[in-house]
Amino acid sequence: MRKAWLKQCQGEAAVKKNDEFILKIEDMSVGGEGIGRMDGMTFFVKDALIGDLVRVGITKLKKTYGYARLIEIVEPSPDRVEPVCVYSRQCGGCQLQALSYEKQLEFKQRLVENDLIRIGGFAEVPMEPIIGMDDPFHYRNKAQFPIGTDRDGHIVTGFFAGRSHRIIPNRDCALGVPVNRQILDIVIEFMERCGIPAYDETTGEGLVRHVLIRYGFATEEILVCLIINGGELPCEEELIRPLAALEGMTGICINSNTTRSNVILGEKTRVLWGQGYLTDEIGQIRFRISPESFYQVNPVQTEVIYRLAAEYAALTGTQIVWDLYCGIGTISLTLAGQAGWVYGVEVVPQAVEDARRSASLNGITTVEFFVGKAEEVFPKICGREAAAKGEGTYKRSDVVIVDPPRKGCDPDLLGTILAMAPERIVYISCDPATLARDAKILCEGGYRLARVRPVDNFCQTVHVETVCLLSRCPA
Ligand code: SAH
Repeated sequence: MRKAWLKQCQGEAAVKKNDEFILKIEDMSVGGEGIGRMDGMTFFVKDALIGDLVRVGITKLKKTYGYARLIEIVEPSPDRVEPVCVYSRQCGGCQLQALSYEKQLEFKQRLVENDLIRIGGFAEVPMEPIIGMDDPFHYRNKAQFPIGTDRDGHIVTGFFAGRSHRIIPNRDCALGVPVNRQILDIVIEFMERCGIPAYDETTGEGLVRHVLIRYGFATEEILVCLIINGGELPCEEELIRPLAALEGMTGICINSNTTRSNVILGEKTRVLWGQGYLTDEIGQIRFRISPESFYQVNPVQTEVIYRLAAEYAALTGTQIVWDLYCGIGTISLTLAGQAGWVYGVEVVPQAVEDARRSASLNGITTVEFFVGKAEEVFPKICGREAAAKGEGTYKRSDVVIVDPPRKGCDPDLLGTILAMAPERIVYISCDPATLARDAKILCEGGYRLARVRPVDNFCQTVHVETVCLLSRCPA
């Protein structure tokens, strides 16, 4: 400390790269890094938790902040717990496993509130307490395992190390279902026995890129999809036999992805065995889910989110509801019984196909689904464009539900929603920052942020879902 002070007096930067010092972690970043302050500088430390006293070494310095690596935990935070997974520090998946679950929930509650204040500009946020899980492990119904080759030439699978594409071998993820391991063992054994090479990202050669596994918690059905760098999988019968013998196996598919990109799924999927989709249930409704379709990953919390969405929508059987970014129509079909009519809009054609089939599977006739971008379909069918042209397609909207991906809603879509002036907007968000940005626009356009409730459906990670109600202010 004295040295640093001396340097400061001599006009030098107080700290420099590789300097080591002791830091008290007082906060945590959106990405889950510990935050501490020293000499007016803010330092981000991966794997350090709020409440830790740590020895760190500076790895990167900017003007007012820097990054440091954790060298030693001098005094652990009282909220530290033993991670369930031995790879939790190396793996990029679970950023919060070493933090007690109670504190994880507090962290996420704070994150949502802070974003709404800082980005949304809300002076007061009507926060309701976050809903967590009783058992916050083994909750995921979907897993995508990258396949690679280790230095000794063995086929490996597991998870990418944080911010890299190095595979950490692990077939027992603490967030996934136990059957994942059995499936991966079969796939790897098949590849080694039949000499099927793993894909190599650096050369673009090799065959098997990923294994996608979906499991229906309600139906116990399993769907396996191998993503390969080509069209054909040699000796496929050798893979089908042991996989098909697993209890619950419903379909085995091949998806071809020959691009040199990070996108996991390619455009073509074909069925090797069984059916090309999975069925699962949410509440009383049965859904059909194709490999390409989005399906919420945490079935226990999905029910919680949909229950909240229904409560906020406060439907009385007559309303016209628009479910934008509807995926396989889970919200549309869940709410159909409480509404007059529900329209769903979704950009992935297979997901809309799933939604339509699920509607007939459940005998629901008061829904209609459109394929396309929400920002294009909604104004065309429901918005000003249709109204101005006097088109017969003009449709009312009493309640709008939006559930966009992390980037949030397109500004044009927000403009159309404002022009349509539904009584209520239910915003379901997986990114508090874009939620705050969009809520600000809607509130400047005549709405009031009436209710906000985070739901923890990505336990052990920094991600959080939030359900909001925006009510139209009286004119
Ligand atoms: N509400 C659904 C899906 C939410 S995920 C559920 O609860 O399961 C977001 C969905 O938006 C995905 O299915 C994605 O394919 C879709 N999507 C992404 N951009 C879109 C856009 N511009 N217009 C319509 N849908 C879009």
